[in-house]
Amino acid sequence: SAFEYAPAPESRSVVDIAPSYGLFIDGEFTEAADGKVFKTVSPSTEEVLSEVAQAGQADVDRAVKAARKAFGKWSALPGSERAKYLFRIARIIQERSRELAVLETLDNGKPIKETRDADLPLVAAHFFYYAGWADKLDHAGYGANPRPLGVAGQVIPWNFPLLMLAWKIAPALATGNTVVLKPAETTPLSALFFADICRQAGLPKGVVNILTGYGDAGEALVTHPDVNKVAFTGSTAVGKAIARSVAGTDKKVTLELGGKGANIVFDDAPVDQAVEGIVTGIFFNQGQVCCAGSRLLVQESVRDEVLDALKRRLSTLRLGDPLDKNTDIGAINSAEQLARITALAETGEAEGAERWTAPCELPSSGYWFAPTLFTNVTQAHTVARDEIFGPVLSVLTFRTPDEAVAKANNTQYGLSAGIWTEKGSRILAVAGKLRAGVVWANTFNKFDPTSPFGGYKESGYGREGGRHGLEAYLDV
Ligand code: NAD
Repeated sequence: SAFEYAPAPESRSVVDIAPSYGLFIDGEFTEAADGKVFKTVSPSTEEVLSEVAQAGQADVDRAVKAARKAFGKWSALPGSERAKYLFRIARIIQERSRELAVLETLDNGKPIKETRDADLPLVAAHFFYYAGWADKLDHAGYGANPRPLGVAGQVIPWNFPLLMLAWKIAPALATGNTVVLKPAETTPLSALFFADICRQAGLPKGVVNILTGYGDAGEALVTHPDVNKVAFTGSTAVGKAIARSVAGTDKKVTLELGGKGANIVFDDAPVDQAVEGIVTGIFFNQGQVCCAGSRLLVQESVRDEVLDALKRRLSTLRLGDPLDKNTDIGAINSAEQLARITALAETGEAEGAERWTAPCELPSSGYWFAPTLFTNVTQAHTVARDEIFGPVLSVLTFRTPDEAVAKANNTQYGLSAGIWTEKGSRILAVAGKLRAGVVWANTFNKFDPTSPFGGYKESGYGREGGRHGLEAYLDV
């Protein structure tokens, strides 16, 4: 109605997307050697955003060669000089953050509220944080004159395209390594805009190279004989394949893989706060988050109260145009991902779990999935075991803290967990027993560049973020 407050969507006009983009090698945008290209679409409308070059083996060779050539001078710079470039990059990211937030929302499908308030500030923060380390490495307990590894081959997923890039590139450059990075095939654009930022910052040619393309380009990169360090974030299946393919080489490897995080709600937790945390835990970025709280473990005595409040809250979430500042739930990143989520949800029903879907209307074009709950779930159910990577929460119950710990740890993964309780002693006792790389207490999905992040078990190995993130790029 005319009286309804209808704010204008964040305007697309702040970002200028070219009809086509090349690979970024040795400081220049260039076509793929074999001329191949692929399209990137907006998942909320299926509109083609641009056509980008598709890297193959010859392009990987070229990019690694450029990174190798740049390594000598870059690694020989005093840390204080490398810091200047990183600070400059961080500031340009801040200056261009509106443009980058809109771009990321268009290419990924996530709400502008998230790209504007979470992704972009964190991306800048990562560059500022590692810029601050670049001139302190000699005195940081790594021994005198710790050395960079050389050329880093980095492969990232589509769920936080620019943030995953920042996690990879900032520590690599701070420590004096050079980089060849391959973004995911469904979200190539923000990495190419980042290449432009590197030029704007005057970064020497070849220090950062960006290869857009598919898994074959990722494989060619991580197996390239002149790549010294492999950093991968993505699925556990591909992570294991990479570990196999680099076995028997001298490459150093870090893997950030999948998760099935438990969000544990005790009976003394304030229900409204816990519900907000459950929602953030699994519906942030449509649940396409490696450390999502995709399993709710709620104490039996408060199960009904928590579930009622959760369903009421989910009924108020706004799903739709990701560029609208009021949107809570955006689009699923791709048709393939939507098909995967749909199939796993159908398996949940077929295995006898009870399905509840938040009441909302799905747009007619684009890839959408309504927030979904599964109750009557046991630990044997597929929806309690497999990573769904979508807006689907599986609800289990427990009676005692020991039972909560046992159920939380009953997974092949070990990336994240959450605890909701008023008792500080319980937080300490339970957190110490959880086999997860990050445990949040009375919050969820909070990130900070000063904190190391990484997995136990099949969630991978190595840590990114914090001073631990430097070690992955240094020979001490
Ligand atoms: P994916 O493994 O399919 O793809 C990730 C990247 O690897 C893409 O760039 C892809 O092109 C590339 N790739 C595919 N096959 C390859 C191969 N054989 N060799 C080298 N590279 C290859 O994962 P995805 O679907 O893009 O991302 C979702 C997954 O990522 C989820 O499992 C999620 O949990 C995980 N993830 C983990 C973290 C973390 O920090 N642990 C963060 C975000 C996402």
